[in-house]
Amino acid sequence: MPDTIVIAGAGHAAGQTAVSLRQGKYDGRIVIVGEEPYPPYQRPPLSKKFLAGELELERLYLRPERYYGEHDVELRANTRVTAIDRAAKAVQLDDGSELPYSKLVLATGTKVRRLGIDGEELAGVHYLRTVDDVLAIRDDFRPGARLIVVGAGYIGLEVAAVAVQAGLKVSVQEIADRVLARVASPELSAFYERVHAEAGVELLLGLPPMGSICGEGRVQAVIDGHNQEVPADIVLIGIGVVPVTDIAEAAGLPCDDGILVDEYCQTDDPDILAIGDCTNHPNSLLGRRVRLESVHNAQEQAKTAAATLLGKPKAYSQVPWFWSDQYDLKLQIAGLADPGCARVLRGDPAGRSLAVFHLDDGRLQAVEAVNSAREFMLGKKLIAAKACLDPGELADASVSFKEIAAAALA
Ligand code: NAP
Repeated sequence: MPDTIVIAGAGHAAGQTAVSLRQGKYDGRIVIVGEEPYPPYQRPPLSKKFLAGELELERLYLRPERYYGEHDVELRANTRVTAIDRAAKAVQLDDGSELPYSKLVLATGTKVRRLGIDGEELAGVHYLRTVDDVLAIRDDFRPGARLIVVGAGYIGLEVAAVAVQAGLKVSVQEIADRVLARVASPELSAFYERVHAEAGVELLLGLPPMGSICGEGRVQAVIDGHNQEVPADIVLIGIGVVPVTDIAEAAGLPCDDGILVDEYCQTDDPDILAIGDCTNHPNSLLGRRVRLESVHNAQEQAKTAAATLLGKPKAYSQVPWFWSDQYDLKLQIAGLADPGCARVLRGDPAGRSLAVFHLDDGRLQAVEAVNSAREFMLGKKLIAAKACLDPGELADASVSFKEIAAAALA
């Protein structure tokens, strides 16, 4: 067993690694080094219930603060790992100190992609990635305020839903010609465009990139992609994230859209592992490498890394899944669809629930389910089983999905 395991990063993946190591009876030293002042916490509620003020900060924590003391896990908050000295097996910290490791786990996650235009530094302009980001946004939220959301991805749409329900006037500006373009099918995009429009959100799609943000100390307007001045009290930017690989790259670890790891979360260096959003890893079910931005992946790769460190390696192989809460709608997506897949719609897109199945030569690759927990749960099993489905049966809502799935899994 290694003497000291250092975890760089203090997000979901980092916290789960420490928990899994202690559950696996690892009794050596564990140190988590994280930039934020908080213990590892769950990010998904940030753009949902936490933004809406419906969840206490402590409810976000993966484990209560006392867990770390009780389980002898050292938390170095407000601290960043600045470099890895692989020869000396030590990391350098931004307080000038050095921390030796027997094994190092990189859980550095992602950072927000910046818009890179004039006026981003003005008060009232926000990104959303951390608890502190949300506390600052909440300070600005007041009924009647004009909010411009840049980007119609998960962050943009979840914030738009919370904001319009809180009485703000919300306009979303997106460069793609549909919402959720990176992560969802056109059918699902159309569904969410209708839902947001009905809720009173203005959606401006296919807009050229925003020119600048203006104001005296605080945002007053934006110059949009058509060079028009649009008044604004708040600007929220959610245009994606990039993996944090700088310390790995500087240490000579191979990276290509993420830190390259194998199915045991092992990098090229036998003493360094990497997990979560920052990794690019093989998935045997998908038959290719992926970098995933998902809590499920962070959690499962953390368990895989812990098993590797405990000397009980178990290859990582999971059906990816994602979810999003907007209004009364729970979107759950299992699998990753190739653009060439045939798509089958089940349910009524004019209603409040539907499912889109992605079939590759009949074999289920992905399912997108809105308020359709059964389609999601069974869909996940069907994807793992590489099951084939009949498109005609799937599209026919009078045929029970439970029966379709049972037959395909038999
Ligand atoms: P995202 O899902 O990548 O969506 C960003 C959107 O903004 C994309 O459609 C992108 O288009 C667009 N965009 C890029 N540049 C733009 C510009 N200059 N002007 C207007 N639109 C622009 O990223 P996100 O919504 O920011 O989310 C960030 C991270 O948080 C992701 O990892 C996401 O998975 C995670 N998250 C997940 C959930 C969830 O699972 N429910 C909720 C919140 C956040 P292109 O794709 O063409 O660049």
